[in-house]
Amino acid sequence: MALLSIVLPAYNEEENIVNTAGVLSGLLEEQGIDYELLFVSDGSRDGTFSEICRAAEKNSRIRGAEFSRNFGKEAAIFAGLGMTKGNAVIVMDCDLQHPPQVIPQMWKLWQDGAEVVEGIKVSRGKESLAHKLSAGLFYRIMSRLINMDMNASSDFKLLDRKVVDVLLTLPERNTFFRALSFWVGFRTESVSYEVRERQYGKSKWSFFSLMKYAVTNATSFSTLPLQLVTVMGVIAILFSVVLFIQTLVKYLSGTAVEGFTTVIFLILIIGGFLMLSLGIIGHYIARIYEEVKGRPRYIVSRTTWEAASDTAETDKIKE
Ligand code: UDP
Ligand code: MG
Repeated sequence: MALLSIVLPAYNEEENIVNTAGVLSGLLEEQGIDYELLFVSDGSRDGTFSEICRAAEKNSRIRGAEFSRNFGKEAAIFAGLGMTKGNAVIVMDCDLQHPPQVIPQMWKLWQDGAEVVEGIKVSRGKESLAHKLSAGLFYRIMSRLINMDMNASSDFKLLDRKVVDVLLTLPERNTFFRALSFWVGFRTESVSYEVRERQYGKSKWSFFSLMKYAVTNATSFSTLPLQLVTVMGVIAILFSVVLFIQTLVKYLSGTAVEGFTTVIFLILIIGGFLMLSLGIIGHYIARIYEEVKGRPRYIVSRTTWEAASDTAETDKIKE
């Protein structure tokens, strides 16, 4: 029988774990789907991992791992993918904002031969205005830069084992899961869903973390900002040709004394362009530097299965 793995990244989600585990296992048992749940605690500072251990004790299909610190959702997703055994893997948030009710639909599409099933948002659910605006800006920048419509896409998707294995062989550290599943191709279907409200806890994204996420992903997925530097160079050259001719004409006609305004403008414009260009190039160099260092994407400090065998061993010693 085919096994479905569900990867759930969790950062400070202690209120959600037991509830989510209960909802998912109830649903999947009812549907007769063979499953495993894999919670990856992303260096949570609350009791998330002990909640995961508690859930794992009760249900042997639940497993979990804890990072040594917060490495970000991307890292948690990839760590989870690497620990799954299923023939198909679903990635979803552990706050149940991705409705579990569409899982049977995704599973059906997979059984019918789909290799990637994208979850497409129809509505973004209730969010604060500031969050909506910053998320909107984020998706607009992203869609432009990587040339894919990111507005409706999400991290909620089902991947065939083949696709998971391909994703795990990608050597880069700076991953953007959402776009990579487009990039790898494969037979893709989609299901639409409505984002639900978060029941417990609050969103982990601030305006600044979203902007940082946007810039990091944009530069790791697109070289368009670098081409922008060339465009700025061309604009600056056009400017300078016009001013060169003007200056020459003035010099030859003997009226070349004035022109301080022009000089100041030129210094400001060219200085600004240069700084911006250096900044963009610097950002890419930083990315290259991070990739070249080749540090691991995440560090796992504990897992439920190791924790379980540890207690089993101490039990043995006690006996
Ligand atoms: N998350 C994570 N690491 C982080 C931030 C978030 O693993 O550094 C997880 C979080 O626990 C949740 C999912 O990513 O399961 C989505 O986060 P959140 O609900 O805060 O984002 P939103 O739904 O508001 O986009
Ligand atoms: Mg959420």
